[in-house]
Amino acid sequence: MDFKSILIKWYGQNARVLPWRQTSDPYHIWVSEVILQQTRVAQGLDYYLRFIEAFPTIQSLAEAPLDALMKVWQGLGYYSRARNMQAGAQMVMERFGGKLPSTYNQLITIKGLGPYSAGAIASFAFKQQVPAIDGNVYRILARIFGVFASPFTAGGKKEFHQLVMELMDKEAPDTFNQALLDFGALQCVPRSPNCNECPFVGICYAYRNNLIDQLPVKGKKLIPKDRFFNYIMVKHAGNTYINRREASDIWNSLYEFPLIETQEMLAPEAIMVLPQWVEVVGKGDVVVRYVSEVFKHKLSHQTINARFFIVELTVVPYSLKSKYQKAPMGTLSNLSTPRLIDSFLAAEPASVYFHGTNTGD
Ligand code: SF4
Repeated sequence: MDFKSILIKWYGQNARVLPWRQTSDPYHIWVSEVILQQTRVAQGLDYYLRFIEAFPTIQSLAEAPLDALMKVWQGLGYYSRARNMQAGAQMVMERFGGKLPSTYNQLITIKGLGPYSAGAIASFAFKQQVPAIDGNVYRILARIFGVFASPFTAGGKKEFHQLVMELMDKEAPDTFNQALLDFGALQCVPRSPNCNECPFVGICYAYRNNLIDQLPVKGKKLIPKDRFFNYIMVKHAGNTYINRREASDIWNSLYEFPLIETQEMLAPEAIMVLPQWVEVVGKGDVVVRYVSEVFKHKLSHQTINARFFIVELTVVPYSLKSKYQKAPMGTLSNLSTPRLIDSFLAAEPASVYFHGTNTGD
């Protein structure tokens, strides 16, 4: 049997039953692929169902208020992907009459659609003979065929693309691409694959040469960078102050408390004399009710070390009012906030907001 026959046979016995596999609606496939780029299937399933329920059509996504979109996406990370998908939906409304086009070349022009998602939609929904290559596909092909080109280089990507096109089942490109993805997710997994029960064990280059840990060739490892955040949760007359993060680095469009970012982790006393501190709390009556421990929050390429200050003010300075919006304390859970802030709110007993230790002034 050739590669595709073995693969399709394996898929016939092992395919995952997933809601986005039961549909040829290209919009649903688009949503599922974007969600699955950042989370595992078990967790992504819930997000997918909620997303489709909240925004059942491209039009409803295009017209959704940003807050509603962020709320549904909350916790998934990579928030720019949700915003790009919405921008893409708006393009589809304007340029394609609200329907996703059927060719890869048109799909790839839509904002938020990269080569993988455009390939997935074109092949799954429209049966176009194009690859949908993600990390799973690089891994399987590198191991079985002994491809030593790096998937992180343009030349390497081209080599893998050519190989998939040679192997592809031209009659059923949708099944072929889905089978590759499932094989990578279930059988040829990154660490300790179960080679003894693999249908390719007889021909697998990596298995025969004991190179499973070395294929695919790895890219340069990015050293995670540490960042130091000091959040100030102001309390005044049952309200706090927040703003929507505009910075493009992380958490764009999510809400957060006034933030002082420093180059290193400073002692609380050192934070409380910074000009940015005064900008937030002013120089009037300031009672620091609580200073948290440092919360560590790991993102893909950076670790956020965050400390939270709970501060009570008698009068709110203009510099705070002008830059931040007032929000009743009880409404914070309705807003889309970074998971780090959720963890802080969940970790600290409510009593601390009102009876914490006075560590300042
Ligand atoms: S033999 Fe092992 S490494 Fe090779 S394809 Fe199968 S599971 Fe992957």
